[in-house]
Amino acid sequence: MKDCLFCKIAAGEMDTDFVYEDEKVVVFEDINPQAPVHLLIVPKRHISDLNSLKPEDGDLIGHVYQIAKKMAAKFKIAESGYRLVSNCGDNGGQTVYHIHFHLLGGRELQWPPG
Ligand code: 5GP
Ligand code: ZN
Repeated sequence: MKDCLFCKIAAGEMDTDFVYEDEKVVVFEDINPQAPVHLLIVPKRHISDLNSLKPEDGDLIGHVYQIAKKMAAKFKIAESGYRLVSNCGDNGGQTVYHIHFHLLGGRELQWPPG
């Protein structure tokens, strides 16, 4: 989608280093990390937010979870623990309206979040 930052990043137009890429998703480091490990798992196809998910997107979201598990192992946070978060809407803290999943770890995370 034109003018969508994460569509541009996923298309390789922003010179972003990917830590992982396949036909469905890209994974890269958050520009403003909130933990020692802070990755963004981003579907290549534009979906604005969780509210826009369709039943047929189930396989894609399942794939995101499989990649999160793989990245947690790769970044050595699988044992210590981590969090996978997707913010939705203003109250959820979403700032980029292309669905994405934050993978956070490497320190003890607070619950509930602020
Ligand atoms: P949200 O606030 O929508 O849940 O998450 C958006 C995330 O994207 C934020 O954590 C923000 O730091 C990150 N971000 C915004 N612009 C860029 C960028 O150009 N490059 C990277 N790597 N991350 C970005
Ligand atoms: Zn997009």
